[in-house]
Amino acid sequence: MRRTTVVGSGVIGLSIAHELAAAGDAVTVVADADIAHSVSTVAAAVWFPYLSASPQTGRWLERSLARFRDIALDPSAGVDLRLGTVVERTTDPDRSWMAVVDDARPATAADLPAGALSAVRATVPVVTTGAYGQWLTARCRALGVGFEVRHVESVDALAEGADLVVVAGGLRSGALLGDDESVVPVRGQVVRLENPGLTQWWIDDDNPAGLTYVVPRRDDIVCGGVSEFGATGLEPDPETERAILERTAALVPQLAGLRIVSRGVGLRPSRPVVRLERVAGHAVPVVACYGHGGSGVTLSWGCAEDVAALAAGL
Ligand SMILES: Cc1cc2nc3c(=O)[nH]c(=O)nc-3n(C[C@H](O)[C@H](O)[C@H](O)COP(=O)(O)OP(=O)(O)OC[C@H]3O[C@@H](n4cnc5c(N)ncnc54)[C@H](O)[C@@H]3O)c2cc1C
Repeated sequence: MRRTTVVGSGVIGLSIAHELAAAGDAVTVVADADIAHSVSTVAAAVWFPYLSASPQTGRWLERSLARFRDIALDPSAGVDLRLGTVVERTTDPDRSWMAVVDDARPATAADLPAGALSAVRATVPVVTTGAYGQWLTARCRALGVGFEVRHVESVDALAEGADLVVVAGGLRSGALLGDDESVVPVRGQVVRLENPGLTQWWIDDDNPAGLTYVVPRRDDIVCGGVSEFGATGLEPDPETERAILERTAALVPQLAGLRIVSRGVGLRPSRPVVRLERVAGHAVPVVACYGHGGSGVTLSWGCAEDVAALAAGL
């Protein structure tokens, strides 16, 4: 049985561990933070492409959507299929994602917020990340995946105990591999409100006042956000939060006055394109899978399936 070590316990590492274990590998996940303490749990997380251009994005979107639809049948997974609105404020919006969403359709004029030129309504997965992280971890354990909590200094240090290493370390993957300086942090900040029963999500990326989204989950409403390239501060900024609350309440008036239940900051692992390939020059075969920007949850299953297919040929 092939011994495979996956570095990273975020949504990418765990999805890959799941697929490789299902294919028969003896998988160990090594990470210095579990999914509850990773960027993956800060994610909103609505299925939608953001800051993740790659030639394969369309296929990854489609595959992940299909997997999340199946997963949503299990209520304990924290995945719900929910109707929402993508607001468009340019004359040439990118609607390529619509091709894989069967009920995606242009919104009527009555659905448009002030200043919007058009919008699209669609039913897509909304992932309550805390519950999903626990579910995914349990699914991995059920397939025999082992977990080690420790920092990895170098890929080659893992060679003794592994026949294959997969690097899914998000933002720190390039440094770990030592051959890639193109991953940059894109700081995001959210404020979570009590949820009196809202279900419909809103994405308003091109809002002239700033990136705006509202994602009602099972137990709260995630309001965002910002995309600060190169910023690394992990403390919520009060002025950013005030502006987020102002923008989101302008978009969804029912939010005004709702109690704040928590706050979050995370650094999206951004890269010109997602890196999913074999990496040469190491003591054992190494596969890289990182750089998913603002779409790691959205693309997770499609990428994990491709890593498993790549690994099957090694
Ligand atoms: C505010 C915000 C909102 C977002 N909203 C969405 C959304 O709505 N939809 C969506 O799809 N995405 C969203 N994202 C993006 C998403 O969170 C990321 O794309 C995704 O979490 C990346 O997952 P990952 O597994 O690659 O990285 P991470 O979650 O960062 O996990 C990396 C793992 O690698 C481990 N690691 C790294 N280096 C080492 C090392 N040297 N040794 C040991 N362990 C190591 C870490 O401990 C961790 O376990 C959002 C992000 C933010 C910040």
